[in-house]
Amino acid sequence: MRKDIITNMNLCKYCHKGVAIENSHIIPASIYEWLKETSPTNYIRSTHEPNSRRQDGIKAPLLCSSCENIFSKSEEIFKKNFFNKIANYRKPCPETIKITPDIIKCIYIIAWRTLASTYYYPIVDNDYTHEEMDKFPEFLKKIKQEIDSEKYCNYRTHVIPCTEEIIAKLKLPQVERHIYERSITSEPRIWDSWERFIIYIQIPFCIIIFEIVPNTDDAWLGTQIEGLDHLVLPRIMSCPNYIGQLIQYYYEAFLKSKKTCQKRKKQIFKKAWKVPIKIVARLKQ
Ligand SMILES: [Zn+2]
Repeated sequence: MRKDIITNMNLCKYCHKGVAIENSHIIPASIYEWLKETSPTNYIRSTHEPNSRRQDGIKAPLLCSSCENIFSKSEEIFKKNFFNKIANYRKPCPETIKITPDIIKCIYIIAWRTLASTYYYPIVDNDYTHEEMDKFPEFLKKIKQEIDSEKYCNYRTHVIPCTEEIIAKLKLPQVERHIYERSITSEPRIWDSWERFIIYIQIPFCIIIFEIVPNTDDAWLGTQIEGLDHLVLPRIMSCPNYIGQLIQYYYEAFLKSKKTCQKRKKQIFKKAWKVPIKIVARLKQ
């Protein structure tokens, strides 16, 4: 192969050996599948763009097929033994959910993918300073070490299953239920002067916070999964105030984009009316 082709090719951001494939998902594809299967229209509607139909989520060339293959095993177990129990329209969420290393691994992989895609494929006007972005490779390396060693002792991950009881107990915003049941979002959120740096992951019926730079004043109780055999829902007692603020923020973004879409629809409707009037006028001549 020509040398210039090799240098231009996207190398896997995880192993730096294989060629990154185009369809790497941030959130496992099976979760988008669930969204499709449980939707009356069989389409995915993004929370932020309710009228643009996304068939299978956000994709970025991050990983090679060999890394994807290795990770897919943990992602399958996460879907079957964790997600399917929490996101279920037929059975209520159990009070106790078994936490295995594969479930933790899958969440670390989502956190790594989210941070890596923000670093390697930044949006033009994102809010990060150069000083902040410069630290991302170090965080990525450390999260990778946790995934490879399967020890999970240097970071904290908090899980909030979004049952009605937990939403009420944690005093989370009483927004429309579909915000809790059908949103898929994953992005890093940073506070000034490294007060806090987290990956905010929202999947149907569940909010997950991966703390990269934790704030020791944050009042988490009963949510952390590292070192746990079981997540016991009645033991979930509190979460920091910023969780409610983030839910509100995403909800308002949803309302705003819904309004823009309705406006656009109205304009299209108006245009559609103009055409037949002209035709009628021409016919009369
Ligand atoms: Zn790889």
